[in-house]
Amino acid sequence: MKLANIIGHGEIIRALCRAVEQNRVNHAYLFAGPAGVGKTTTALAFGASLLCRQPQKGDACGQCQDCRQVDGQNHPDMHRIAPEGASIKIGQMREMLRRITLSPYQGKRQVFLVEQADLMTHEAANCLLKTLEEPPAGTVLILISSRPQSLLPTILSRCQIFTFHPLPAEQVVRILERETAVSREEVAVLARLTGGCPGRAVRLAGVAGGYFAVRQRAVDLATGLGRASVMEACRQAALLAEDKELALIYLELLQLWYRDLLVWMETATPGLLFNRDYLSLVDREARFHSRIRLIAAIKEIEGTRDSLLANVNTRLALEMLFMGLAGAA
Ligand SMILES: [Zn+2]
Repeated sequence: MKLANIIGHGEIIRALCRAVEQNRVNHAYLFAGPAGVGKTTTALAFGASLLCRQPQKGDACGQCQDCRQVDGQNHPDMHRIAPEGASIKIGQMREMLRRITLSPYQGKRQVFLVEQADLMTHEAANCLLKTLEEPPAGTVLILISSRPQSLLPTILSRCQIFTFHPLPAEQVVRILERETAVSREEVAVLARLTGGCPGRAVRLAGVAGGYFAVRQRAVDLATGLGRASVMEACRQAALLAEDKELALIYLELLQLWYRDLLVWMETATPGLLFNRDYLSLVDREARFHSRIRLIAAIKEIEGTRDSLLANVNTRLALEMLFMGLAGAA
């Protein structure tokens, strides 16, 4: 992936190309913005432009050995650090520091991508801070975070910060058309559903069995839970807990569903609904819920998603959520 091929985030892309072209690359960057908006994709393309042996106008050439290795995710000077379990641990940071003190294998630079940087433990963050104070020449650190407010201020102050904003729907549509094989009808719904975050749209498009079928099951689950017993809620939780990735997608869909009920209750404006193709069901279901209950449900789902991402017991987390949602309608 070249920076020039990225759809959206034009200003950031131009600033990054300019930095490479004018040889004014910083030691540390923070790419901040919501999950799925394009931070990691951009960081990888930026990494390629930094490691490419014949960059053109600050962008990777896409042809040389370095570019091919970055694309193949096997460039020895491109290092990716991501949470192991619920956090990025001190051991991972020490290993990174050790690597930073050594010379690059192939060229003049080493690039370190720290994904979900806000999940560094306190010790890991302090360890990183030491590197940021005196980074060896040729080291480029790119921190990626959807919760930059959770990072130490001393880390933030040492990074050049780029904030990624959700993309307009038409750009998400172009990305979906390029990267997936879903129908035009699905593309339109997905672009709407994922709030300007193409990564989330692409992930939903790839759901086994087709996105529409999964959404139908999520809507069935939401409507069923409203009238379910605690026993039934636990049974549904156990079923869904078998596949955590799928469970996360269901939670996303459930959250959008309850959000739609709330928006419909407050505004009665079809154009504001993500699931506007379910209008009559939204209208019927909204009558069964109270405003306070819907706000609580949306928050509970958010909390459960965080728990699943932080690797707590999937079944237990889903049981707690579904028992809370059971019998609400
Ligand atoms: Zn190249």
